[in-house]
Amino acid sequence: MASAEDDEMIYLGPVTFDEPIPVSAIPEEHGALQAASHVITIIYSGSGETRSLRGVDAVNEDDGWAWSAIWDTIHHTLETLARRHGRTLHTAATFASDGRGHGVLVVDAGNRLHDCQEDEDPEVHRTRTCSCYSWNPPSVEITEHERVPVPHAVPAGPFIDHIVTCADHGEVVCATSEHAAYFRREAHIVAEHTPRPLPLGPRPAAEALPARVLEQINEAAQELRRARGYDGGGAISYRDAARERTRRAEAELSESDLNDTVAALLQLCVELRAELSQ
Ligand SMILES: [Zn+2]
Ligand SMILES: [Zn+2]
Repeated sequence: MASAEDDEMIYLGPVTFDEPIPVSAIPEEHGALQAASHVITIIYSGSGETRSLRGVDAVNEDDGWAWSAIWDTIHHTLETLARRHGRTLHTAATFASDGRGHGVLVVDAGNRLHDCQEDEDPEVHRTRTCSCYSWNPPSVEITEHERVPVPHAVPAGPFIDHIVTCADHGEVVCATSEHAAYFRREAHIVAEHTPRPLPLGPRPAAEALPARVLEQINEAAQELRRARGYDGGGAISYRDAARERTRRAEAELSESDLNDTVAALLQLCVELRAELSQ
């Protein structure tokens, strides 16, 4: 489950599909996993044209430590692949983290991955009666939009997923609640489809943000770009600087005179932009 908190962590042990997926069918997702190859070993079966993705594991117990956001991206990619290709995820991985304690990774019957703390009952996660996906976004006014239809419900094992697909940008979100799906849909419309003249230009999310917030985001992106030039320890100071800038951006945003829903939507835009800027 995604978290905005900075936390270094590791998942040791394989997360695999019941049946491998041909790599040739999933160039984008495979690329996303390869981008994390400093953290994970990608497990294949077959070779050449018939090479298929079996799953992933941490590279090793020292180098597999990474920001939780990186692991979130890896797990999200695996969940998405399982859903789109009708596979079932399996794992016996354990996790350890600076801030979240440790425990085991649990797959629920709808192919979502959960961190199960060592003192928790895994069954609570398997049945989604846990709090992992219980984020309750503010209510939004539902707008009509010809490019972004309202969420549609799709069965996921015993659960229902709520998927928003944009005619221009593809899948926007696959949420576990309809409420969250509507919120992400409105955020997407604000960020990508808000017409001129409010806000102006091809990057409406950027222009909807107060200037002082945007300045901090751009500085954060700059620090992240600098961090890319360094391995391991050398990158840490730049990443720290980027996080500090992001915190300031959030602080500026919370001081802005915006109503709660607009602030929450913009908050999400801040996070999405910071991710994209990397
Ligand atoms: Zn859970
Ligand atoms: Zn779109």
